Amino acid sequence: MEGIVNFSAGPSALPAPVVARIRDDLPDWNGTGSSVVELSHRAGPFMALASGLEAHLRRMLAVPESHRIVFLQGGAQMQFAAVPLNLAGEGGPACYVDTGAWSARAIAEARRYCRVHVAASSGADGYRSIPPRAVWEVPPDCAYLHYVANETIAGVEFAAEPESGGVPLVADMSSNILSRPIDVARFGVVYAGAQKNMGVSGLTVVIVREDLLDCAHPLTPTVIRYAAQAEADSMANTPCTFAWYVASLVLEWIDDEGGLDAVAERNRRKAERLYRAIDASDLYSNRIEPASRSRMNVSFELGDDALDPTFLAESERAGLVGLKGHRSLGGMRASIYNAMPVQGVERLVAFLEDFERRHG
Ligand SMILES: *Cc1c(COP(=O)(O)O)cnc(C)c1O
Repeated sequence: MEGIVNFSAGPSALPAPVVARIRDDLPDWNGTGSSVVELSHRAGPFMALASGLEAHLRRMLAVPESHRIVFLQGGAQMQFAAVPLNLAGEGGPACYVDTGAWSARAIAEARRYCRVHVAASSGADGYRSIPPRAVWEVPPDCAYLHYVANETIAGVEFAAEPESGGVPLVADMSSNILSRPIDVARFGVVYAGAQKNMGVSGLTVVIVREDLLDCAHPLTPTVIRYAAQAEADSMANTPCTFAWYVASLVLEWIDDEGGLDAVAERNRRKAERLYRAIDASDLYSNRIEPASRSRMNVSFELGDDALDPTFLAESERAGLVGLKGHRSLGGMRASIYNAMPVQGVERLVAFLEDFERRHG
């Protein structure tokens, strides 16, 4: 066997050179004689890492001067509460587009803090597509318009940033941040948990437009209040130092791979290869409308789900792990984030074809 290919949805595979670097660095990071997790976040070497991480992310995503970057904890789901607390103040309504399981969770959490208006939902068609922008209802007085850029569970992705009609646009990019360039200037807030495409769990990146920093509800906890964390350089509480360190290595790796454009092009080719194989087969199918298909999470079903256990056992034996679909949907899902090499997708396609020949 040529080694394991990890298709896990999150936490997910890190680039192999990043894992090797962590191993090498661990006992003595940067000549400090300690591992990175044993040092004060206020000590010089870690402060240098922190400012380097901010500058690097700013450069890579071309984050304009108008926007602050804060590094928080609590995952994307903490942001489901932090966004309404920070942006909806005591008013609202907040506007949400409902395109799947993560949208639904974000909406349910926001309802605890403010009035919520659902601009559009694809629930009626089983979340197989993104509702066309023309049918969205966005009240001009809403505090913000929230959408999930990539629905990780079903594998539905916005092909481009939607028009927000002048209200602050907020995106959960947990599963597609750093997968391609984005126009940050168009957003009020972008947030993403790190464990899919930016490192390990624990770190949540929030990019927030400066003029939105003073809208928070007075009861917003300090550690999730964007203004307080921006003021404290994200050290209002002890940061998850290991996750910051890993994120800095992931950004270096993206540069080594040729930068965001090169990684985006590779992601496009990987997804196209996999969807082409699924569409060409009589055994596998993907239920998402082609224009809304995710480049990061490719879901597929076997014509006969009685074959699922055999498929999972054989794929695992072939070294292809993490293909079981989310427990709420069943079926299969191949998560092919930045760290997935083209070779990994080629091995999956070869396995799919071989399995179909034997069981189709
Ligand atoms: C994984 C994921 C989340 C949840 O992240 P947590 O770390 O569990 O809070 C939210 N939104 C999207 C789009 C995700 O992929």
